Amino acid sequence: MKTKSKAKLTANFDLKIGDEVASLSATVPDQKVTVSELIPVYQLLANDIVSHSIVQSAKAGKNISCKAGCSACCTQAVPVSELEALHLAKVVKSMPEHRQKRIRQRFADTQAAIAAAGLTQPMQEIAKLDKKSRNALGVKYYSLKLDCPFLEDKRCSIYSDRPLECREFVVTSDPKHCIELNPQEITHLDSKLRLTPVLRTQSQELFGKKSSGWMLLVNCLDWAKTNKTRLKKKSAMFWLQDLIDLATNRKVNSHKTP
Ligand code: SF4
Repeated sequence: MKTKSKAKLTANFDLKIGDEVASLSATVPDQKVTVSELIPVYQLLANDIVSHSIVQSAKAGKNISCKAGCSACCTQAVPVSELEALHLAKVVKSMPEHRQKRIRQRFADTQAAIAAAGLTQPMQEIAKLDKKSRNALGVKYYSLKLDCPFLEDKRCSIYSDRPLECREFVVTSDPKHCIELNPQEITHLDSKLRLTPVLRTQSQELFGKKSSGWMLLVNCLDWAKTNKTRLKKKSAMFWLQDLIDLATNRKVNSHKTP
């Protein structure tokens, strides 16, 4: 069901999350947009889906251990989709000059530390590696103890704009395993529906054959600066439906680049 108000459309829909059906809604502009302009809508949707999964997890006796102030996962190699890279570049660009400068400097410092460790190229090509090699590289990266450039006083300084991976990376195990990076001991929220892989798929479809769909967060500003792809506009409802179809496997690689 759609309702319309002030050039916005609200879609109400049901999504199966685990064993339950959740009634969700999303409000989008009543106009043609690029997918990257809808990232804030996707973020709110991801929040709702994660909240439902957390309630289900608690019912099953598995409470989440993530808490404000625990930022162990913010020193890991955080992946972001190409579409989110564009969004994050826009977020940084909209910051006041002094803050922008500080954040850009942190990106540069982190990249310099990665270069000093001889990891620039592997980190740029991480999305092309198999899972085992990716994990091994992730452990090397974590050993460098590099804070995410957006981390300030152990808190995310772009919390409402943080990538989907940061929203959907929720753990139920003892935080010490995150801090010590014991992958075998870390248990994740059993979320049956995640939007992170969906955004990667949408990115690959939109950015063409060379696209891997994602990159490390620390490379996102550079990528956004050099990416020349002009994203076509379609109705916001089209993109929302596309996202839901991908998320629920109603659409299996049948999408043509618009
Ligand atoms: S974007 Fe925010 S939540 Fe995500 S890794 Fe960076 S500081 Fe942490």
